[in-house]
Amino acid sequence: MRIGIGFDIHRLVAGRPFIIAGVKIPFDRGPLGHSDGDVLCHAMADAMLGAMALGDIGLHFPDTDPRWKGIPGLQILKTVRQKVEKGGWKVKQIDAILLCEKPSLSPFREEIQKNICRALKIARSQTGIKFKTAEGLAEIGKSRAISSFAVVNLEPK
Ligand code: MG
Repeated sequence: MRIGIGFDIHRLVAGRPFIIAGVKIPFDRGPLGHSDGDVLCHAMADAMLGAMALGDIGLHFPDTDPRWKGIPGLQILKTVRQKVEKGGWKVKQIDAILLCEKPSLSPFREEIQKNICRALKIARSQTGIKFKTAEGLAEIGKSRAISSFAVVNLEPK
């Protein structure tokens, strides 16, 4: 088996949509980024690339390339899942933490979970997603950033 770890953080700014795993969440700010700033998908994709020893999403989807401008996080996740499959592996289990003070993400849990499962072609029982606040501390706690950590376990296809 193979194990990978992923991390992502994005600044929250006015005038950007707030999207997590393809789910648009009503809020007055959104993640700043060349892509849609979907930290959950980005951390998961990085974990999968790490498990494959294939570098990181910055290498595969450079922000200097206009092709990737505004690319949805779910699209990155699907593309990385295809790379995993091409290498002869599949996701056995993924687990993630999403650090977000506001907005509250729990009303969107089912939809977020469903989209991740569909993108990775795995069951809910293989998908861990935890929502945490930062208890008001630092940039994340002031709702000026959101962040995500992910760990993935791959098994041979
Ligand atoms: Mg990112």
